Amino acid sequence: MPAPRDLPIYELEARLVDSVRAHGRLIVQAPTGSGKSTQVPQMLLAHGLLGGRGEVVVLQPRRLAARLLAKRVAEEVGTRLGEVVGYQIRLDSRVSEATRIRFVTEGILLRQMSFDAALRGISAIVFDEFHERHLYGDISLARALQIQRTHRPDLKIIVMSATLDAALLRDYLAPCETLTSQGRTFPVRVDYLPKAVNFEHDPVWAVAARECERIAAQTSGDLLVFMPGAFEIGRTVQEIQGSHALRGFACFPLHGELPPEAQDSAVARYDTRKIIVSTNVAETSLTIDGVTAVVDCGLARVARYDPHRGINTLLIEKISVASADQRAGRAGRTAPGVCLRLWTEREHAQRALQELPEVKRLDLAEVVLTLKAAGMDDIHAFPWLEKPEPKSLERAETLLEDLGALHGAGKTITEVGRRMLRFPMHPRYARMFLAAQDYGCVRSVALMAALTQGRNFLLRGVDKRTQEARDDLFGAESESDFFLLMRAWRYADKANYNMDACRRLGIHAQAVRQVGPLFEQFLEIAAGEKLDVTEKRIDGVAVRKCVLLGFSDHLARRIDKGTLRCELVHGRKGVLARESCIQDAPLFVAAEITEIESRGEVNTLLNLNTTVEEAWLKELFPEDFQDAGGVVYDEAQRRVLARKERRFRDLVLESKQTADEPPEGQAAALLAREVMAGRIVLTEWNESVEHWIVRVNCLAKWWPELEVNPITDADRATLIEQICYGSYGARELKDKPVMPVLRDWLLAEQLAVLDDYLPERIVMANGRKARVTYTKDGPPVLSARIQELYGVESKFTLGHGRVPVKIEVLAPNQRPIQVTDDLSNFWREQYPKIKNELSRRYPRHEWR
Ligand code: ADP
Ligand code: MG
Repeated sequence: MPAPRDLPIYELEARLVDSVRAHGRLIVQAPTGSGKSTQVPQMLLAHGLLGGRGEVVVLQPRRLAARLLAKRVAEEVGTRLGEVVGYQIRLDSRVSEATRIRFVTEGILLRQMSFDAALRGISAIVFDEFHERHLYGDISLARALQIQRTHRPDLKIIVMSATLDAALLRDYLAPCETLTSQGRTFPVRVDYLPKAVNFEHDPVWAVAARECERIAAQTSGDLLVFMPGAFEIGRTVQEIQGSHALRGFACFPLHGELPPEAQDSAVARYDTRKIIVSTNVAETSLTIDGVTAVVDCGLARVARYDPHRGINTLLIEKISVASADQRAGRAGRTAPGVCLRLWTEREHAQRALQELPEVKRLDLAEVVLTLKAAGMDDIHAFPWLEKPEPKSLERAETLLEDLGALHGAGKTITEVGRRMLRFPMHPRYARMFLAAQDYGCVRSVALMAALTQGRNFLLRGVDKRTQEARDDLFGAESESDFFLLMRAWRYADKANYNMDACRRLGIHAQAVRQVGPLFEQFLEIAAGEKLDVTEKRIDGVAVRKCVLLGFSDHLARRIDKGTLRCELVHGRKGVLARESCIQDAPLFVAAEITEIESRGEVNTLLNLNTTVEEAWLKELFPEDFQDAGGVVYDEAQRRVLARKERRFRDLVLESKQTADEPPEGQAAALLAREVMAGRIVLTEWNESVEHWIVRVNCLAKWWPELEVNPITDADRATLIEQICYGSYGARELKDKPVMPVLRDWLLAEQLAVLDDYLPERIVMANGRKARVTYTKDGPPVLSARIQELYGVESKFTLGHGRVPVKIEVLAPNQRPIQVTDDLSNFWREQYPKIKNELSRRYPRHEWR
């Protein structure tokens, strides 16, 4: 099958080839179906832009699309898949020495960049579907630009998309041309439901099938139905196949979990009309010819960081307006079409205009680890297209440190970190699998990963009957809530996910169904890494150790026996969930931490818990475990006390007061912290001390040759710590003199000239004394009442003429009348004008 040269993208061919050849970078923007994904790689090959043997790698956001595109392009080129054209996705790949066009997904390209920064063998990289703003697209593009700027100026970079925020990208890629094609599209009529439907009561698949019946009668082409995931797609297909009105239609599901043959048949051509029920892979990644009607449920499974479990999860969410418009556009490819949205127009107005890019909504731990492996230690300085929140970068680094993947002040990758990279999954799971390999419990870890990844299916707050049924099934389980979930899942699986059987145990049938496929996926990855996935007797200790390794940042300690209150690492506090099976254990790991707000108070609930032993902390994290004397500030006694304590990171496991005197230095540091926070007040540190500090800083500024160190805010902390030195409690500290320590700041000769150069009072020509005030920025100011200034004519200076002084003339009531540099001026100009007025007001003073 030759390449279909009548596709709109060929209008751009000549310019595209010239531009890539001239600049090495290009943005291509053309509507879905124009031929970007299938034709552009072929153009590069045909025009010799890949050199004699080089390869073009096409990065796709979706695995299903990568495989189908590779297959299609191989057919067009006229070779078998895996020869000139191939693909490489997680768990599946078809490439060979001969491959020149390679479709890939997710971290595959980024990993290759980490291991070989010269990208040997790759001549061009195409970033397809870039508007989706997948995390790996963003990051691989940034890396590709770095590589093009350094090792590989000849590398060709092409960014393609159906819709693009081109301005942002153009600046990022500059200098870079943008080629746009309008494509060919037909108008699509968009209809909404007149009334909102609650999918809890009227399932989305039933609504969709009904609407298909209606639209099928009004149109003559094929139908495309959008559903969020495999489960909903399966149900929709069932409904459609059971519909009398739709019996003339062939109906096909299309999603990533189907076997390849089933995916192929969904995009194939038939003589009958067909209905394809698809995930959002058909939104812009794949084009199915002949569709004239779209039924859009308005939902999609979206990957998002789940703060409760500390991982990324897939949640079913409402799609954005932009997404809905793309979906509608699928109906207008070959003829005018219709799109029915299964929501109301009113609700549509409230939808987000656009999805957030993944870099703003996903946990970054996995990509941060990959970047570190490539030697990019300062991830804040990485040339992000859009910078993630600094908080989410910090969170990723902290987690990776806790997992043992990074170490040291530079947060560089460790050997464990490098080994974790072999597992294309969240680093928590990667760490657990690494351990499971050693402990021989790979199956259990795969199952636990599936259990944490999916939605919670064991309903909470069940009635007494259900609880009794559970007690019978679960027995006296008390080591881990995971073990309960495992049993519950096995039970549901055996019962074939029968609704009644599930209800009897308070199991959410739809949620528990998702565990099996996830379990299979994790097992497949593990088997792919040659781990031993055979069924074994479950070793509870080994499994619990794996949980600890994956969730050591969720380690919790019961504060007391009487309550459920706990302290966690990283200074958090929480409450053990009442329904957890681990009621008495003093130490455990919570795989799910939920914050519940009620009446203005935030309650942190610890769920999905696993008991662990202190000895394991020592064994698995020798560097994070400290068994040492400690010093604490006791808020109640307002004293520093010596304690003996064992800690895991910042979590104190046990702390006993001892009679020993705490080391003076540590005591001083703790007290100083209290002083700095204002909880202990040093009464002697008063206004005149502050004024003294200002004078010292003035001396430093005006006499640089004296080499006086100015006293900065940071120095104050040091000084306060010195004042605290030798004290243990607030009572003895608070009245301690402070000037002796402050004076020590200066050398003897500096101290000697301080009073000489910058005195607090000076004697004027008339023999009277006047006060001098120093400020942080301005000149010193001498303040005196008019009467005190009689007989004084001149200007003032300090420090033997170096520092001019401003004079503040005060009225008898101490109010300033004037600030001047030169008194003679005052006597001549101002004084005569105000003298009468003042003498009337203050008749008892002397008025010369
Ligand atoms: P774009 O990337 O611009 O959306 P594609 O290159 O994916 O466009 O598709 C161009 C055209 O090639 C589609 O309109 C469709 O007609 C055809 N096509 C692409 N993939 C397949 C396939 N797997 N089976 C049948 N036709 C396909
Ligand atoms: Mg495409």
